[in-house]
Amino acid sequence: MITNRTFTMLKPDSVEKGNVGPIIEKITAAGFKIIAMKMVRLSRADAKDFYAIHKDRPFFNDLVEFMVRGPIVVAILEKENAVEDFRALIGATNPAEAAEGTIRKLFATSISENAVHGSDSNENALIEGSYHFSGREVF
Ligand code: ADP
Ligand code: MG
Repeated sequence: MITNRTFTMLKPDSVEKGNVGPIIEKITAAGFKIIAMKMVRLSRADAKDFYAIHKDRPFFNDLVEFMVRGPIVVAILEKENAVEDFRALIGATNPAEAAEGTIRKLFATSISENAVHGSDSNENALIEGSYHFSGREVF
């Protein structure tokens, strides 16, 4: 099992606000190596599929509309203990509760428009990364 990779999305708010560069700087400064990266725009079907686990939550429709609002940057990151360390780097889902210095504390607007996604398990990191990247796009 791969344990040293995670998957991230820089969400539409990050792209809109010009925060892609500063966020990537934080990610690489924290020791993550970028092994795949591109800008894409999710379809509604993509967004619903990605967040299917939340389909019965009251915020689901708003979440889908937010995620399709504009392009996102998707990437696969490599580092020892990548999943856990990246969740620590991004901080709590709600930026109001995120620790000082975390990406969400620095760049997120609200609990919904929270700048970045980070996989929550090795298994999901592999599923999410494989959804966006073919073998020849991963270095
Ligand atoms: P995380 O992205 O930290 O893993 P979740 O998996 O719980 O958080 O939620 C997925 C995404 O759904 C969040 O990143 C956020 O964009 C949105 N979200 C989560 N909870 C709420 C909420 N209570 N209200 C609005 N949007 C939410
Ligand atoms: Mg999650």
